[in-house]
Amino acid sequence: MKVYEKAPAKINLLLDVLRKRDDGYHEVEMIMTMVDLADRLEMTELPRDTIIISSQAGYIPLDEKNLAFQAARLIKDQYDVRTGVYIHLDKRIPVAAGLAGGSSDAAATLRGLNRLWKLNIPMEELQALGAELGSDVPFCVSGGTALATGRGEKLQPIGAPPQCWVILAKPPIHVSTQEIYGKLNVREIERHPSVPRMLQAIEDQQFGEMCQAMGNVLEDVTVRVHPEVRQIKECMMRLGADGVLMSGSGPTVFGLVSKEAKVPRIYNGLRGFCKDVYAVRMLT
Ligand code: ATP
Repeated sequence: MKVYEKAPAKINLLLDVLRKRDDGYHEVEMIMTMVDLADRLEMTELPRDTIIISSQAGYIPLDEKNLAFQAARLIKDQYDVRTGVYIHLDKRIPVAAGLAGGSSDAAATLRGLNRLWKLNIPMEELQALGAELGSDVPFCVSGGTALATGRGEKLQPIGAPPQCWVILAKPPIHVSTQEIYGKLNVREIERHPSVPRMLQAIEDQQFGEMCQAMGNVLEDVTVRVHPEVRQIKECMMRLGADGVLMSGSGPTVFGLVSKEAKVPRIYNGLRGFCKDVYAVRMLT
């Protein structure tokens, strides 16, 4: 028996941090959606009680540090599954990029093993399992577009944003989410993006207004450490993207573009700056 799952990348149309909590996590408000840039997972049942991960990507851990491995072990332990699984990860989402690649792999593993082992776990229960693996995993389990609150695990699904192109550019640096949150001083945040404004823009399908409402309070922190993020942002704006923002804790910058005719110019212009550039559709 074999199952296949796609694990799409997420972008944050909005990321706000309200305060640091006593448990060390930050209280956040995020509006997240998925784009058509995805890892592919192939899961094959094994008769022995073991979990094996392989990938063509040489730069991710293939042992128990891999989030797909952790997801497989969690679901096996919780539901007392005695057979094993071989998971092949065709990695296409850049790593440590602010695109939740690892979280999406974990979520795809939970969905895939639920089918492979015929466990019939309801979506909410899969999301609760996902929350044990990381704050972004519950969102990646269900996908779509959602307002995430708490430490990112409380989800309220919302309608899809207006359809557009998304151009992603990742400078050749790795950013640690923990380091960026560690450097954030919530009292020093100059401008908090408005969640109600973004929700309204999406509900009204107002593309221009959605671009105006985009904001990410981690951007200033990451830019201080990695000024190349600002350079890519400026380059993308100069090339004519309608709305430009850093995703998550970075360093990937994405630009929203409504007119398809503008896409090749922006894509080619950015390729002069960095190697990792993608032009994809928003998943609606
Ligand atoms: P987020 O936006 O959720 O912070 P990210 O896109 O910044 O995520 P990931 O690509 O998920 O970061 O990788 C973060 C770390 O997780 C890397 O250092 C990587 O070694 C580790 N990791 C574990 N499992 C995976 C996986 N399946 N794919 C990618 N990275 C993984």
